[in-house]
Amino acid sequence: MKGIGASPGFGSGRVFIKKEFNEPILKCVDDFESELDQLKWSSDLLMEKLKTLELHTTETIGAEEGEIFKAHQMMLSDPELVGKIKQLIREKKYDASYAVKVVKDEMVALFLGLDNDYMKERAADIKDVCNGLIKLLLGIEDIDYHSEEPIVIVAHDLTPSDTASIPKDKVSGFITAIGGVTSHTAIMSRTLEIPAVVGVSDISSLEDGQYVIFDGSTGEITIDPSEVLLTKHKVKVEAYEQEKILLQSLIGKESLSKDGRKVELACNIGHPDDLEYVLDNDGEGIGLFRSEFLYMNRSSMPSEEEQFTAYKTVLEQMKDKPVVIRTLDVGGDKQLSYLDFPKEENPFLGYRAIRYCLDHPELFKIQLRALLRASIYGNLKIMLPMISSLDQINRTKELLEICKQELTDKGQEYDSYELGIMIEIPAAAIISDQLAKAVDFFSIGTNDLIQYTTAVDRMNETISELYTPYHPALLRLIQTVIKNGHKAGIWVGMCGEVAGQQDMIPLLFAMGLDEFSMSPSSVLKSRALIRSMDQESANSLLEEVMQFDNAKEIKEYLQKRQA
Ligand code: PEP
Ligand code: MG
Repeated sequence: MKGIGASPGFGSGRVFIKKEFNEPILKCVDDFESELDQLKWSSDLLMEKLKTLELHTTETIGAEEGEIFKAHQMMLSDPELVGKIKQLIREKKYDASYAVKVVKDEMVALFLGLDNDYMKERAADIKDVCNGLIKLLLGIEDIDYHSEEPIVIVAHDLTPSDTASIPKDKVSGFITAIGGVTSHTAIMSRTLEIPAVVGVSDISSLEDGQYVIFDGSTGEITIDPSEVLLTKHKVKVEAYEQEKILLQSLIGKESLSKDGRKVELACNIGHPDDLEYVLDNDGEGIGLFRSEFLYMNRSSMPSEEEQFTAYKTVLEQMKDKPVVIRTLDVGGDKQLSYLDFPKEENPFLGYRAIRYCLDHPELFKIQLRALLRASIYGNLKIMLPMISSLDQINRTKELLEICKQELTDKGQEYDSYELGIMIEIPAAAIISDQLAKAVDFFSIGTNDLIQYTTAVDRMNETISELYTPYHPALLRLIQTVIKNGHKAGIWVGMCGEVAGQQDMIPLLFAMGLDEFSMSPSSVLKSRALIRSMDQESANSLLEEVMQFDNAKEIKEYLQKRQA
């Protein structure tokens, strides 16, 4: 069995099939008494679970967070909610799961329609409680993280918020049916150093409890391996660990080419907790803090204070090293249940990131104020995602000025910072000469730039062959952006996954890229590579590669050279 290697490393363990949560469909029953019994049984069980969660969360995170589950218990015992569900079962003969869904939809719509932010946020709680009931009624189990043996999570898909809530020490890896190497779940597993294989078409042949081994680089999966294969697997794991140990000798060394050109090898993170990996791997800065992950796995927006604390933590821990914090890049595969997003046919081409933020200035200003206040604590660079026009930069600058005034009025301080943009939309790359005059830096987001340049969905495993960084159009765009940035005197980095791709680094180095931001686990091997390179030979490689006229030739050429 084979998929797309999405996060390197070797996984092994018992399969846990994570069942899809699908909304129940209309089903009527004759025996409504039995449905009422099942409802009672599920409510009791859910109540027990919520009590345990409240205790556990209070102990491990804090009392305020624990309170969320207390509120959920109150909702679950609300006679109005339960009464409505029972009424539908009795009168309409709906099966229990469908009755819960109908009441959930009704109440969520009611709460969202109220002109009161507090009540709007409660809609997400209602959804959580009702979905908990539906899962129990449909027999969809939560993942058991208490098992002694590590588990391999097998799912049709995992959302970034599923991934964010997985305890790393209990999970040996992920295998999913859909997704590509730059889906956010794949990116997060690389940060967390959890091996992963995505895009496995015949995933249905995996069963709960089977023992599997897999290779997160090649995408190879073996079910119930023989002794011989297990031994081979162990040898590979040891070699992989050995290589990691050898790379440790580069900690503290500079990322300097043989002829003395220094570049910055920074890291991509999604949460302050990821700093552990950055420090362990000697990252030279944060090239991308995906702030939207702070907004996930919760039922309401993080407050200005919460955001300020998170940004301050990262800035302080990185000392004076550069920290690029990207403003909220929500939308696409990153959805937030409590924000009122329209259902879209093409979410990646839709209402997302800066488009959403500029449309909701009150929400955006909370983040901007938190960032400004944090600027005192380190070397902050604020980055705007999905920019496609100068106007979006100017409007953000106006909001920043308003925020500064608001802070000054309240006697709160802020310091200097750089303002930069992601270049991830071809339009921005094409007018990068113009945009460069308005900002302090560019960071090229190849994950999106590839999908928008080649019109290939980054999440779609069926066309994953076409999703390629080797396309001559992409290489030309990158070269243009770097040249335009340098002409205007600003630095140019890259925080898309290509920045950590070993066969691409020499090309990017030749083009003059200043900063490479990648998963922490790629820093040391990239440093080893940079230290083996010089400008002249990188330039001649680039010249040669730019002569090829298709992605296939470029890929083969670069990979052969690397082998
Ligand atoms: C990118 O598009 O390259 C990028 C870094 O942003 P994200 O992966 O979060 O879309
Ligand atoms: Mg992007």
